[in-house]
Amino acid sequence: MQLQNKITDAAKRNPIFDEVNIGRDSILSRVRQLMSNDLLLDGHTVSFAGVQLLQQAWDIVQNDNDNDIFTLKLDILYALTDTYLQRQAFDKIELYHTPLLELSRRRHDVRKEILALICKAVLLSISSDYKEALSLFMEAYEKSRSVQAHHHAARCLINIGTIYANLFNYDAAQTRYNDVLRDYKDVIDAPTHAAVHLNIGNLSYASEQYAASLFHLKQGLKLAQEFDFTEISAHAHALICRSLLALNRFEEAVEHEQLAEEIIAVSSINIPGRSIHFLNVAQIAFKRQLVKQGNYFAIKGIAAARRVIDDSTELRGFALLANAFEDEKRFDLAFRAQKIYAQRQADYLKMQRKMHALDLEIRYSLNEKQRRIEELLRENQYQSILLEKTYQIEQQNEQLREINAELQQFAYITAHDLKEPLRMIGSFTQIIQQQYASQNNQETAVPFRFISEGVTRMSALLDALLQYAVIGRTNIQPEPVNTNDVVHIAMTNLKIVLEETNTTIVFDNLPVVRASLSLLAQLFQNLISNAIKFRRYDVLPNITISAEKFNDRFLLFKIKDNGIGIDKQHLDRIFIIFQRLHAREKYEGTGIGLSICQKIVRQFGGKIWVESVLGEGSTFCFTLPEMS
Ligand code: ADP
Repeated sequence: MQLQNKITDAAKRNPIFDEVNIGRDSILSRVRQLMSNDLLLDGHTVSFAGVQLLQQAWDIVQNDNDNDIFTLKLDILYALTDTYLQRQAFDKIELYHTPLLELSRRRHDVRKEILALICKAVLLSISSDYKEALSLFMEAYEKSRSVQAHHHAARCLINIGTIYANLFNYDAAQTRYNDVLRDYKDVIDAPTHAAVHLNIGNLSYASEQYAASLFHLKQGLKLAQEFDFTEISAHAHALICRSLLALNRFEEAVEHEQLAEEIIAVSSINIPGRSIHFLNVAQIAFKRQLVKQGNYFAIKGIAAARRVIDDSTELRGFALLANAFEDEKRFDLAFRAQKIYAQRQADYLKMQRKMHALDLEIRYSLNEKQRRIEELLRENQYQSILLEKTYQIEQQNEQLREINAELQQFAYITAHDLKEPLRMIGSFTQIIQQQYASQNNQETAVPFRFISEGVTRMSALLDALLQYAVIGRTNIQPEPVNTNDVVHIAMTNLKIVLEETNTTIVFDNLPVVRASLSLLAQLFQNLISNAIKFRRYDVLPNITISAEKFNDRFLLFKIKDNGIGIDKQHLDRIFIIFQRLHAREKYEGTGIGLSICQKIVRQFGGKIWVESVLGEGSTFCFTLPEMS
């Protein structure tokens, strides 16, 4: 071991050092031995000699930064701090809790970190920094629960209860103490168990719930008697007597007063409940008209209460005195006692109000903390819901993409492969028709015309379908496209029909978009040719093309005609493939043009729709991404 080496090295240099270090070494091995037998750990009371040994061991190791000594160092520190906390040796705790916190955190030893937190909180609550203390106790409590350090958890709850009691928040205090009884009854030692009952009894008394107070005080007394804790028994008797007096159960009260007296009379002045007992004696004496005795014990009680800074007991003493003087008609004394009582009570109420305000402040900050934690949790939940949704949407998109690709493939193959047999039907029909024509058979002329018209039409449909299926098959990279050029291309392609129909197209300074020139040319051409096809015969066709801003990223194009218009009920239907509103004889077409337009616009992330007034004209609107 490294420490051993160090000692031996030093011993070589200095023979006297040898003895000293062997002494050190044996201390450490003794401590190790005690610790490995669990003799110094949690829940055990360390003897006076044990503490001295630990203290010596700490003096040896505290400045040793060797890695192999680290665990021992932490264990010693923990055992020492735990013992001092049990003994309420606050000056010692002051010395040890900071290194304990530091080392335990470095080692990620939560249990030891909890003890350090508890110590820090205890010191804070002694200096009346209840807010900080509560927050630390709560942190320690949560951590204790998470690592199942029941002993520490109970310790925290008891301390939290006591702070709430000091803040006059009796409900919150009782809740914590009851939690201890419910969850950690088997973990806490008997004196603590008894003390918790007495605390609850005390709080119930302060809330004027005397019957409930009796119940808990008697539980505490039972435990104290069972384990022979005479001091706790005396305290319990005094408290029980006080509650019985409040309930006017005089005879029973006297019994407990006497039992308390038996112990308190022979105990030190530090015995808890002493002041309460003196005031009980006084109250009983006054009741028996033993004024002198009453006065004597009331004053004794007040003095004892003052010694332990127990304001409420002191107040009770003054109230007793004032009443007694009044009963005796010693009004000047009664007046003086009353005056002091009033003064004390005013101070007490002031302090109570201050504590209430602090309690509110703490409650608010704890609520805030809780709210923030809940908010974070909600956010996390929300985010996981979002993630889940995004995942689902992605999956659905993926499925849609697959279905779309399959459909596209299907449409393409069908259209492509059907063209071949159709061509065959067409050419063989022609051959047969020619033979019949040479025979000059007039009867067959009409059916042949139908067949050849059918073939032509089907061929046109297949061409259109193929055109439709092809869009989106190739991965088109959007590029800047000047839409003025696009309109010019479309107009060139439609030159003949434009001239034949005397159509005017008005447009000016159209914008640049992110799309594909060839697809946009097809889009504009389809829409312009529809505007011409579905013209009104009483007016010359007029088409206006314009563009405006749609939102941050898109531009809105409008192609407005003065044609026949579309009935409101069909406005959506016309974009569906093969949907037409008119007989073929009246208007030629396949019913695919607009679905191609829709496919093109959607490919660039845009939307297409139509606004129309039947008999007046239609405006086809679509959006396309603006150049960024
Ligand atoms: P097609 O023009 O081959 O019939 P489309 O898909 O291009 O097929 O149009 C579908 C239907 O929408 C047309 O049959 C027509 O009834 C209606 N339509 C399209 N454009 C216009 C327009 N500019 N004015 C009135 N009706 C229109």
